Amino acid sequence: MGMLAMDTLLRSLDLIEPGDLVVYHGSITALHGLWLALPCPCDICRAIDALGLPEVRFALADPWGELPGPFHVRRQSVTRSVASG
Ligand SMILES: [Zn+2]
Repeated sequence: MGMLAMDTLLRSLDLIEPGDLVVYHGSITALHGLWLALPCPCDICRAIDALGLPEVRFALADPWGELPGPFHVRRQSVTRSVASG
């Protein structure tokens, strides 16, 4: 496998960066769909961050600005949208 193939492989992994489009599929079915993933600024996330724990949570924002947000969701509840790739 050459360097280019390795780079493509790494990009295909489910890494979510701030501003990525993600699909929410967690426990709140009313919110299932496409969102912008943003760093969650709440006290819980700041505390987790301060402890150095790897769990990452996201705030979700409506890409079209039509729904209220953001929402604090677990990393496991969102999948990076292929469309954002
Ligand atoms: Zn949070």
